[in-house]
Amino acid sequence: MEERYTFDVIGVVHSCYREKFGIPRQPGLVSAATATLELLTPYNRVEAVKGLEGFSHIWVSFIFHAVESGKWSPMVRPPRLGGNEKVGVFASRSTHRPNPLGLSVVELAGIEANEKGVILHLIGADLLEGTPVIDIKPYIPYVDSLPDAIGGFATSVPGRRLEVIFSEQADETLVSYEESCPQLRRLISESLAYDPRPAYRVNDEGGFRGGVHFYEFDVRFEIIRDVLRVTEIVPEA
Ligand code: SAM
Repeated sequence: MEERYTFDVIGVVHSCYREKFGIPRQPGLVSAATATLELLTPYNRVEAVKGLEGFSHIWVSFIFHAVESGKWSPMVRPPRLGGNEKVGVFASRSTHRPNPLGLSVVELAGIEANEKGVILHLIGADLLEGTPVIDIKPYIPYVDSLPDAIGGFATSVPGRRLEVIFSEQADETLVSYEESCPQLRRLISESLAYDPRPAYRVNDEGGFRGGVHFYEFDVRFEIIRDVLRVTEIVPEA
């Protein structure tokens, strides 16, 4: 039986995360990560979100639009298992899946709904700028929260965190943007503490250098052992 379904994109995410690298691997880990979800015509109607303001969290169904389409394999190497061990793709949250669909539960911090359209304010999203959204549902604690559920190989929040420190230059830049982007310092510290390195580079003795894009900032860093030092923060021109 060959069945095909097509879905409309109902909204788009505008996120502090401007590239895949450096985004937390699950939602709810970084409270300084803010995003908006803009509903698109014809779904951006005030009536479509009536009642949603009573919920603190929502499920966001989205498309992993920034992965190469059609590229999936039945087994993947989750970072949680150190990048060496394989599990089935359906036992993972990998972005490389037969259908590139993602599902995140995020905090709903507010709703702007008027004749101009609908914008949902989100906290803690693990979503890339421009992520297309195909559905939104309220998170219902009495069904969706299962404290006795068993978490397979991902039983708790990753315990190991990096210490994040800032160079003098990085610190000065943060101070100069304290008014216009007050959450930037916390966003960098909280996000990068989860160790953005690919699992196979985590034990690199020679250190690791990299960069991420948060908002309009190019954030450069180096990691030596358990310390991540932000070397430079460059506002994009
Ligand atoms: N919570 C979701 C889920 O379980 O379906 C996503 C989990 S997935 C492991 C999280 C990673 O997806 C992030 O670290 C980021 O690198 C990547 N990501 C987020 N938005 C994306 C997008 N629109 N396209 C491709 N990758 C994306």
